[in-house]
Amino acid sequence: MENMDKLHVAGLHKEELAQLMAEQGWPRFRADQVFRWVHQKASSSFEEMHNLPQEVVEHLEEKYRTPSACRIILTRESQDGTIKYLFELFDHSTIEAVYIPEPGRGTLCISAQVGCAMNCSFCATGRSGFVRNLSRAEIVSQVNAVRGALPPGAPGVTNIVFMGMGEPFANFTEVMAAAAVMQDKAGMNLGQRRITISTCGLVPEILQFADLNTQINLAVSLHAPDNARRSQVMPINRRYPIEELLEACRVYTAKTNRRISFEYALMAGFNDAPHDAHMLAGLLKDMLCHVNLIPVNPVEGFQRPRSDEVKLFKEILERQGIPASIRKERGTDIEAACGQLRQVHKGERRRGE
Ligand code: SF4
Repeated sequence: MENMDKLHVAGLHKEELAQLMAEQGWPRFRADQVFRWVHQKASSSFEEMHNLPQEVVEHLEEKYRTPSACRIILTRESQDGTIKYLFELFDHSTIEAVYIPEPGRGTLCISAQVGCAMNCSFCATGRSGFVRNLSRAEIVSQVNAVRGALPPGAPGVTNIVFMGMGEPFANFTEVMAAAAVMQDKAGMNLGQRRITISTCGLVPEILQFADLNTQINLAVSLHAPDNARRSQVMPINRRYPIEELLEACRVYTAKTNRRISFEYALMAGFNDAPHDAHMLAGLLKDMLCHVNLIPVNPVEGFQRPRSDEVKLFKEILERQGIPASIRKERGTDIEAACGQLRQVHKGERRRGE
């Protein structure tokens, strides 16, 4: 199979690009120019890179695919400003990203894989199965494509979260390479603290990530306070049970001195009772962490708890010294939860065929 990274400039670090330019006998600043066109100006064609000599443009057109490795094929904007993008890739696979504007910041939630093998029961992506890993170019291109398509007045993309389709740590090398491209000051210039990787709990990769000792944020999906229930909704728990997972998290915080964000989707009658909050607080006691409570997006089999129950859950955690917050609901009118838009689009296409 072709190596897509060799063919998409979006996946190349500036130094790699400089080396390829040098091989052609072109000066270093040509690489800087191309890098800026791709990552600062979110350029969609080589032709529009008007400060490059024609021979460089022709070489790029011949040797590489388009500057972007994905194409927006569907956009849905919520009344609250959240925008969901559906992208098509070179092999006609589709992936999603969600843009969440807030005063002074814009967070883009991006995908790391086509589909996902982790099969979490509350997730539309998990139910559709795994197709393949994304290349670093496909990961970076989601950000560039959205930056080029944002409505006027939007606060831009200031933060990235790997919380879209797929398990980022199951595509560790490409995700970390993409994150490095995003940090380059000549391109997106996103500081490490503005990037968050969210994992369902792959222990070896959490330890590998801890060894890198970066400032990139780590979020870990917990979703239940005991192994029986966690295994029920997150099959990965059978491989890496809670004790092992939290041990890896403690290694991470000890090595990096960085706070972990634990994601906890509250599902009515399943994991939202006051004694569940006490159990969770017991598990996380003395950890450098924060709990993000997410009233579940209603999918088959799970209902959202009442808001007073959510508030009580948060208060119990806080009373026991665990900082917690409740995630504000965004974009429910546009199927903003992970994997939902892709399902809707597939259904619409099937009906249209
Ligand atoms: S929640 Fe995340 S890890 Fe679980 S199936 Fe969905 S995309 Fe995969």
